[in-house]
Amino acid sequence: MNDTQSKYDFIVIGAGYGGLSTAALLAKAGKEVLLLESHVAVGGCASSYKRKEFMFDVGATTFSGVRSHQPLGRLFKELQINPRLEKVNPGMIININGDEVIRHAELNDWIEESENKFGGDQKSFWREIHRIEELGWDFVDKNRSLPPVNFMDYLRIANPSNLKFSKLAPTIFKNFDSLVTKHGLQTNSKFKNFLDEQLLITTQNVSSDAPLFTAAMGLAYPAETYYPYGGMINPAKLILESFRKNGGEIKFKHRVSSIVQKSDYYEIATQNGKSFKTKHLISNLPIWNMVSLTGGNIQKYFQKQSGYFDFAWGAFAINFAIKTDEEIKSPYYQIHLKERIPYLNSGSIFVSFSLPDDIERAPEGWRTVTISSHTDVRNWENISEVERSQRKELICSKILNEFDSIFPDSTNAEKMYVLPGSPDTFEFYTKRDRGFVGGIPHSIKKSLLRMPPNKTPFENFYMVGDTAFPGQGTPAVVLGALNTIERILD
Ligand SMILES: Cc1cc2nc3c(=O)[nH]c(=O)nc-3n(C[C@H](O)[C@H](O)[C@H](O)COP(=O)(O)OP(=O)(O)OC[C@H]3O[C@@H](n4cnc5c(N)ncnc54)[C@H](O)[C@@H]3O)c2cc1C
Repeated sequence: MNDTQSKYDFIVIGAGYGGLSTAALLAKAGKEVLLLESHVAVGGCASSYKRKEFMFDVGATTFSGVRSHQPLGRLFKELQINPRLEKVNPGMIININGDEVIRHAELNDWIEESENKFGGDQKSFWREIHRIEELGWDFVDKNRSLPPVNFMDYLRIANPSNLKFSKLAPTIFKNFDSLVTKHGLQTNSKFKNFLDEQLLITTQNVSSDAPLFTAAMGLAYPAETYYPYGGMINPAKLILESFRKNGGEIKFKHRVSSIVQKSDYYEIATQNGKSFKTKHLISNLPIWNMVSLTGGNIQKYFQKQSGYFDFAWGAFAINFAIKTDEEIKSPYYQIHLKERIPYLNSGSIFVSFSLPDDIERAPEGWRTVTISSHTDVRNWENISEVERSQRKELICSKILNEFDSIFPDSTNAEKMYVLPGSPDTFEFYTKRDRGFVGGIPHSIKKSLLRMPPNKTPFENFYMVGDTAFPGQGTPAVVLGALNTIERILD
């Protein structure tokens, strides 16, 4: 059949973890689904790419939320797939001025370490964080109609069985600082700085503005950090396999260029001149991208959302392969910078190594490395190409100097493929508007409940991904997919 005449029951735009999971779950439920992806691979910001015998991660490097009641665990169970993920302990090592803070997976070990390194009595502080986190996962597992968008949703939330979750309500509106103060730790500036750098990589915000709820979820995550063998793309490949096995169809190199609402269907055009019709539409694209793809009321809706949530971070990332036998205690390091690096807006860099036995990523004796940090996308706009490459080169050399000073064996070690990426690189490969990545920063000023809902006001039109509820990170976008499916199939 000619593509121009093809009519589908469901079209999903974008095969990041949000769109891919939604498409696979729909196919599993027996629906006829077409998945349109602009790139040549699945996974989006949590994908990987190959250079000869090396496999590099694009941006994201860690998984969490894989226990059976958590989003990725639920997804894998539903699709009956079993990606090779390794729980790492320590979940992360934080290097502050040469001193290593070890984030042990076991809570009591971690509390002891944190008290030793930062001082003060922190037991009740960390226990409260983990209580909020446990309750949070339980709440989102039992409540699939979030955020509420209609009367029925409110009724479901008002169910008496939800009473036990009522203590979570204030945590959505209070900032994280309130918890630090409650436990008498607010004057400990070294500890507060540590918390801010941890929060920046999980909530995209600092403790004065990050909501207590999402901050607690983010701070608890190094207790449950999972390393994916073969790269972040591997679980995505298994999800794709399940999608195809259940009759789903994916078209790579099909970048959607317009979405038009007709009487009882949507017409989707792609840049390569194809056109598709669908009754149900699910978009995995950031809200900012949706403005230029739509018209009329739909465009006004996305203009309003984009105007309200008008900021997200950009990322600077470097990939390289290194020949080394140096013993590394965890694949994940957060390194506090001795001095700020120009054009980076964070005081730390996040370093991820491949494990020595992960020969899908690097041959024996070699490791792949991904280093990333936050940058304001405005640092990269309206500059010449010459200026852009000079900035990239400068940041690259400063990051590599810092890396070599922390891992001394690497100074003289052979490095291959030093590949830097700035927001324009992310924009080029993932098509995310302005290179905004990592989703909408969580903020008490812009409540979690105001996040763009998965169900839009337009008939049979849904949004998934890290600019829709509940936000950023692979567990969150998969949770958005699971909730969306529940709404569609209900
Ligand atoms: C540097 C960095 C580090 C991170 N670290 C972690 C981490 O360790 N753990 C974690 O869980 N999360 C991490 N994140 C966040 C996480 O990667 C994202 O929140 C998540 O992957 C977003 O998934 P998504 O499905 O919403 O969107 P995306 O991954 O952006 O996927 C969108 C997809 O849509 C496609 N697309 C775009 N435009 C079009 C179009 N017009 N037509 C068709 N297709 C289109 C893109 O090619 C892409 O495949 C990190 C992010 C970054 C940038």
